[in-house]
Amino acid sequence: MQKVDVAIIGSGFGGLAMAVTLQKAGIGPVVILESADRVGGTWRDNTYPGAACDVTSALYSYSFHPHVWTRKYPQQAEILEYIEEVVDAFGLRPLIRFGAMVETLAYADDAGRWTIGLADGTTVDARVVVSSVGQLNQPAFPSVDGVESFAGPAFHSARWNHSVDLEAKRVGIIGTGASAIQFGPQVAKAARATTIFQRSAPYVLPKPDPETPTWKKRLYTMLPQAQLPARAKNFALNELFGSSILGNVKMRRRIKAQWRKYMESQVSDPALREVCTPDYALGCKRALIADDWYSMVVRDDVEMVTPAIVSIDATGVTTADGVHHELDVLIYATGFRSTDFLTPMTVTGRDGIDLNERWRDGATAYGGVAVSGFPNLFLLYGPNTNLGANSIIYMLETQATYITGLLSAARHAEMATLEVLASSEERWESMIESESASTAWVTGCNSWYTANGRNTNNWPMPTRKYRQALKDPTLLDYDVRPAPSPVPA
Ligand SMILES: Cc1cc2nc3c(=O)[nH]c(=O)nc-3n(C[C@H](O)[C@H](O)[C@H](O)COP(=O)(O)OP(=O)(O)OC[C@H]3O[C@@H](n4cnc5c(N)ncnc54)[C@H](O)[C@@H]3O)c2cc1C
Repeated sequence: MQKVDVAIIGSGFGGLAMAVTLQKAGIGPVVILESADRVGGTWRDNTYPGAACDVTSALYSYSFHPHVWTRKYPQQAEILEYIEEVVDAFGLRPLIRFGAMVETLAYADDAGRWTIGLADGTTVDARVVVSSVGQLNQPAFPSVDGVESFAGPAFHSARWNHSVDLEAKRVGIIGTGASAIQFGPQVAKAARATTIFQRSAPYVLPKPDPETPTWKKRLYTMLPQAQLPARAKNFALNELFGSSILGNVKMRRRIKAQWRKYMESQVSDPALREVCTPDYALGCKRALIADDWYSMVVRDDVEMVTPAIVSIDATGVTTADGVHHELDVLIYATGFRSTDFLTPMTVTGRDGIDLNERWRDGATAYGGVAVSGFPNLFLLYGPNTNLGANSIIYMLETQATYITGLLSAARHAEMATLEVLASSEERWESMIESESASTAWVTGCNSWYTANGRNTNNWPMPTRKYRQALKDPTLLDYDVRPAPSPVPA
C-alpha cells in the first residue's frame, strides 16, 4: 500500500494547480491519482472538431505559468500542450499514477487517515485527500427509449470517435449546448445532411478570434508579464458580462439586444429566427460565443428539429410530431452529470457518513472546498464554484491556494486533522442561497447548474469576491485536532 501525506484525485487544471501549490509550500509526499493514461482532464477528453475555450487565452492559463498563445481563444490541442508543458516545468510527472481509477474513499476515525480504493484492487493511504475530478467529466446521455439501439456509429461529444468518416453521411446531433455550438458547424461542412435536435435555443454571441500577431508573440516571449494587462482587461470584461447574469437587469437587456441584432443579421427567415430564439432569460443557461453557428443554421443541408425526441431506434430518431429522422451517425451533445460531483466514487467520512447521502438534496460545501463530517477531505471545482462568465482556472488557483494555506496553518499549529464546522458550512450555504435568488440561474430554465431547483454548481457573486472570501484560510472555521497517538504494539 502506498502511503502519502496528500493524495490528489485528477490531473486536470485543478489537480495540477494543487500539486504546484503544495510543492511550493513544501507539503508532501504527494501522489496524483489519474484514471486516464494522460493528464489534461477536459482538454484530453474533448477532442471534437472545433473544441476550444470561450475564455481568452491570456486568462485561461495559470497565473504562475504564462504562455505565448497562438490566438485569442485557445483551441483544445494547444491547451493540452500547455498542460503537458506545466507538468514538465514543475517536475510533476513522477507524482502521477496513471490508470489509477479511484472507486472508494473511506475515513478511518481511529487512525485519522483516508484509505483510497482503486479499481485495480490496490489501496493508497493518505492523511489528506483533495478531490479534483471536475464538474464536467462524466458524460450524460438522455433518458429516451432505445438509446442503445441505434445501429450506426453513435458517440458522445466528449468521447469523439475520430475513426468515423462523416463525409456523405446523414448525421444527427442531439443538443445545442456549448460543445454542439463548436462542432456543429464543422460537422455540417463534412456531412451530406445534418439534423440538429434542439430542446431550447442557446444565446450565441460573436467570437472574434484573431491570431496573436508576431510582434506580440516576440514581446510575450521576452517579457511574459507583458500579458498581465490583457489578463486584467479580459477578467474585468468577463465580470461586466457576468453582472448581467447575477442580476444587473439593465446589462442583461443590453446584451440581449446585441444578441438579437447579431442573430437577425445572420438569420433572415422568420421561422428560423423563431427556432433560434431562446425561451429563457439570458444567462440562465450558459451564453455562448461562436461566429459560425447561425451561418450553419441557415444552410440548406442543415435541419433544426425542435419537437422533443420520443425514441431512438436502429435507423434514427423519432420526434413528438411523429416524424422519423433517418440517420447514419448519431452524436450526443448532451453534456455531463454535472450535479453528481464526486460520483461514481463512494465516499465514507467520519462515523460512516456517506457523502452521496449527505448530498441527496443537492451538493453543498463550505467555500466549495470542505464538507463537515469529512475531515481532511478537500474539493476543487466543488459545489458553487462554477462560473457563468469567467475563467475556472482562477477559481481552481484560489481553491488550491486556500487549501495549501490551511494545511500550512495546521502544520504550524502541529495539528493533523481539519474538519469544517457545521456552523461555518451552514453560514456559507445560506449566503449562497440568498445571493442566488437574484441570479438568472433560478429563473426557471432547465440547466446543468441546478439540482431540485437549487443552484448547486455556480458561484453567485462577482468572481473576485470568491477570492476575497477564501483569501485568509482560518483554522477558526474548522475543528482542528492533533494526530491520533499511535496504538501501542
Ligand atoms: C467542452 C468543455 C469546454 C469548456 N470550456 C471552458 C471555458 O471556455 N472556460 C472555462 O473556464 N471552463 C471551461 N470548461 C470547464 C473545464 O472543465 C474547466 O475549465 C477545467 O478544465 C476543469 O479542470 P478540473 O481539473 O477541475 O477538471 P477536469 O479537467 O475534468 O479533470 C478531472 C480529472 O479527474 C480525473 N478523474 C475523474 N474521476 C476520477 C477517479 N474516480 N479516479 C481518478 N481520476 C479521476 C479525470 O480523468 C480528469 O483527468 C469547459 C469544459 C468542457 C467539458
